[in-house]
Amino acid sequence: MKIRIGYGWDSHAFQSGVPLVIGGLAIEHPEGLAGHSDGDVLLHAITDALLGAVSAGDIGSFFPPGDPRWKGADSAIFLKLALDEIHTAGYKIANVDTTLVLAAPKISPIAGEIRERVASLLDIPAGDVSIKAKTPEGMGMDHVAQAHAVVLLERIEEDSSLRVMHAEIEETVTVGTDEIDEMLKEMSRGRKPAVKKPAFDTEDFT
Ligand code: MG
Repeated sequence: MKIRIGYGWDSHAFQSGVPLVIGGLAIEHPEGLAGHSDGDVLLHAITDALLGAVSAGDIGSFFPPGDPRWKGADSAIFLKLALDEIHTAGYKIANVDTTLVLAAPKISPIAGEIRERVASLLDIPAGDVSIKAKTPEGMGMDHVAQAHAVVLLERIEEDSSLRVMHAEIEETVTVGTDEIDEMLKEMSRGRKPAVKKPAFDTEDFT
């Protein structure tokens, strides 16, 4: 399958004395979102959408709310794990669309900033991330923030040029096949390859 879709939803109640973090962005507001982690409702919804897209379970199956390790945790950790899951499954993000539902604070003035932050956490261009917001009219949910997220994934193609490069690298360097695979995977994602350095510099042994 060349493309897959994922959907995620989350909600957290507002609570005073807690910092407000949405989409990895700290926001000035008298109340924050209660939760075992940092309560980042948007990152939780995107994390679930990513995991759902590759049928890898949900955020609770990887990070049980009762586990003390995730008390007050930065939700970017959850998002990174979900990204690893989709990459391992052979997919990358095509685009992400989200809707926040909350009475306050107003999201439109900071939507651009949230978008930049989410895009940077996902390692994709801001143009592939959409942040929308609605107020919960008539729902009696003024003290709750909800987030909906839809992601589209596309298969990472290992094209023939990468296969040729693989053969060339194998001939000229002495690193293992797994490391070459990892370097090529990184390059195909448009990042600089993470070349593992030796644990020590042998020239230091003089
Ligand atoms: Mg949550």
